[in-house]
Amino acid sequence: MCEICRRSFIRGAAALGAAGATGISVSPLLAQARRDAAGGARLPARGEFTIANAYVMTMDASLGDIAGGAVHVRNGEIVAVGKDIAGGGQHMDANGMIVMPGLVETHWHMWNTLFRSFAGDKPEEGYFPTVARFGQQMTPDDIYQSTRLSAAEAINSGMTFVHSWCHNVRSTAHAEADVRALADVGIRARHSCGWPQGMPDTQSADQAPLESLAKDWKSWSNEGLIDLGMSWRGQFRAGPIKPEVYQPEFDNARKLGVPITVHVASTRRAVNQITPLYNAKLMGKDVQLIHTISANADELEMIRASGASVSVSPGTELRVGYGYPQISEMLAKGIPLGVSIDTSALTGSSNLFAVLKLARDSENARAGNEFKMTARKALELGTIGGARSMGVDRKVGSLVPGKRADLIAINTNALNMGVVTDPAHLVLEATGPENVDTVVVDGRILKRGGKLTAINPGTVVAEARAALAGVRERTKWR
Ligand SMILES: [Zn+2]
Repeated sequence: MCEICRRSFIRGAAALGAAGATGISVSPLLAQARRDAAGGARLPARGEFTIANAYVMTMDASLGDIAGGAVHVRNGEIVAVGKDIAGGGQHMDANGMIVMPGLVETHWHMWNTLFRSFAGDKPEEGYFPTVARFGQQMTPDDIYQSTRLSAAEAINSGMTFVHSWCHNVRSTAHAEADVRALADVGIRARHSCGWPQGMPDTQSADQAPLESLAKDWKSWSNEGLIDLGMSWRGQFRAGPIKPEVYQPEFDNARKLGVPITVHVASTRRAVNQITPLYNAKLMGKDVQLIHTISANADELEMIRASGASVSVSPGTELRVGYGYPQISEMLAKGIPLGVSIDTSALTGSSNLFAVLKLARDSENARAGNEFKMTARKALELGTIGGARSMGVDRKVGSLVPGKRADLIAINTNALNMGVVTDPAHLVLEATGPENVDTVVVDGRILKRGGKLTAINPGTVVAEARAALAGVRERTKWR
């Protein structure tokens, strides 16, 4: 940010008035959201509004930051961004707010958020045995409850895009339940359809659920907000997987024209996994690689040459001792890179701001250098960079006229954010879900004045709790 912008921001922050103290006030738009008994709601209409008087971080290289700026949204599209724009529609004063693009999450096993913080302290209670055991007892409704809980948490904490990495597709109905939950919450997303937990690595995944969704995807996509991909086991799980098992899965995704996503080289010890993937021509612009912790210099070059994107998840990679993600190395290569939650069973709270902070911190720790990675670069990874890695950057990821309106407003008038200093550092280092005042996805206001407009959180949590009780009962777990 330029020094003048910075100074005017600080002046603006100092002048915080009553409007800033109470957040963006609740409007008639909120009343439009008709709740139903299931805790979901008809999504709010896309209207016309102008969020004004904000510190706008566009995350666009040419527009930069705009102190005292405004964003005009009409029918889901950003019409104008700037200081002296005419605006239109409902006026929303955002004095004391930082307005920025919604965060873009790039790999999250939302189906197992029911097991939040369930991975214990002994090997037999670790993440993998826990989710495999309980995952095999999940019904489609359990998947729905878990994914809806995750998507609601995502909106509440400022994510406007999530990648639902669904590797517990036990039937077509399980996959459909995951997609339905995403649609009911109104978030922008990708559903990547995978295999069922507990399936032997000697067996190819049933392609029927993916094919069934692909055939009629338009009707599932929530007017194009959700796209379809395939979660793939790849060539390695506990041991190598045979080509006659993995190749038909890969080929089918290519035939259907859906992007592919795969965990590879997930730990420091999982070496020599990227080279065989590259040599077998199983990487490309349509392939997302998860973790790639052990990539050596040659393998980093293979990733770059193939055009594949990468998703890292320092919140889980550090938690389970996979190692440090190679963020700087990938950025130096120009590899499209996003940051992800991975699983709430390990991360607990799924606040992507906190994970982005860990991404920056792990780079600085590895380098022994306070200045290795800037706060703004970390925020870029969580917005336009993540959008690029998921192939949605022409639609979202920055606040630019013509893009779809996926944006958030952060209220800085809170004990954990006051007093305001450098906006990029503040947003990265201090933002909690309670500071996210407003969330807009595709022009729909899904959170306002700190409250979800289309979802009843109490119902979402109660129904998820009941679903977990059922899974525990069927698993004979006490
Ligand atoms: Zn994962």
